Amino acid sequence: MITTGQKIAIERTKASRLPQTDLENIKFGRVFSDHMLVMDYVDGAWKAPAIVPFGEMQMSPATLVLHYSQTIFEGLKAYRNAHGGINLIRPHDNIKRMNHSAHRMCMPQIPEDVFLEAMTELVKLDQEWIPKDEDASLYIRPFMFASDAYIGVRPSDSYRFIIFTCPVRGYYSEPVRVKIETKYSRAFPGGTGETKCGGNYAAALYPAKLGQDEGYHQLVWTDGLSHKYVEESGTMNVFFNIDGTLVTPGLDGTILRGITRDSIIRIAQDEGVRVEERQVSVEEIEVAARNGRLLSAFGAGTAATIAHIQSIAFDDAVYELPDVSKRELANRIGKRMDDIRRGRMADPYGWVVPVV
Ligand SMILES: *Cc1c(COP(=O)(O)O)cnc(C)c1O
Repeated sequence: MITTGQKIAIERTKASRLPQTDLENIKFGRVFSDHMLVMDYVDGAWKAPAIVPFGEMQMSPATLVLHYSQTIFEGLKAYRNAHGGINLIRPHDNIKRMNHSAHRMCMPQIPEDVFLEAMTELVKLDQEWIPKDEDASLYIRPFMFASDAYIGVRPSDSYRFIIFTCPVRGYYSEPVRVKIETKYSRAFPGGTGETKCGGNYAAALYPAKLGQDEGYHQLVWTDGLSHKYVEESGTMNVFFNIDGTLVTPGLDGTILRGITRDSIIRIAQDEGVRVEERQVSVEEIEVAARNGRLLSAFGAGTAATIAHIQSIAFDDAVYELPDVSKRELANRIGKRMDDIRRGRMADPYGWVVPVV
């Protein structure tokens, strides 16, 4: 076991790719910073973590993860703040959630202090990769996978934990068109819906592709038993503004416990907005949309923060939502989150963890 304060060994790249990288034009998730952190779990213990140049890895074709998908991930961002420093937002919540996923997938817990130090050191080292302008940030991708070269179906004995980072810009520039999915399921009670495990996303590809073929950006999943209740969308939780009340599906084990979701709820409540976490039926959304009481809807997640929903399709009907410029509530909450992240406003919640 690693003890607190142990220095992480750093092997610096001999040739930074930054000079050849056009940070003005980056596509989400395709540009990788110079370094990554690697830590292996072998013989029941984590070995010392090391930061090394980002690059390819060799592995056996029999590596367990390639067959049975014993793998989990996280996603969070580092932001440049108004004072020349860099902030992480709620990293402890991501670390806890990763360990929660690890538990469900029979994978080892990652010591929280090591995890945080690893992220901090990596972001510090590659801080020049964070573009200086306002809508940019550094996406941090920690993940862990089963690394035994063995094709029996059982939990792996060895694991590899990696963190790499990507400079990113706004995720969805346009408001999204979504379709409520009532045939396929993403999650069901007792399953892995609230786990960020690879298999969840692989299983969602086909229904999402069918939706895209019909012209929708994203699906809004419904519960796997009755398909009557809304759950979440893509890699985002969903919110509906019904007559000024912010309504979002409650966390029942099938929905990812989004940290952005939680931040939005806190900020909204502190601004005096009524928030309801409960079952939200498709019927309720339809009725509200028809009566003009559905003032807005949006997805919430680290990648996009707030992704406005333009229209919601269900069966043969498509409900268009009011113009984005009128979405005062979501825009106000989004701005407040941004002000906290960028250090333009005091952080009353203890979310900001400065890196430098
Ligand atoms: C990651 C994710 C979210 C959003 O979580 P954040 O912590 O806000 O980034 C929501 N739904 C799913 C399925 C996810 O994978």
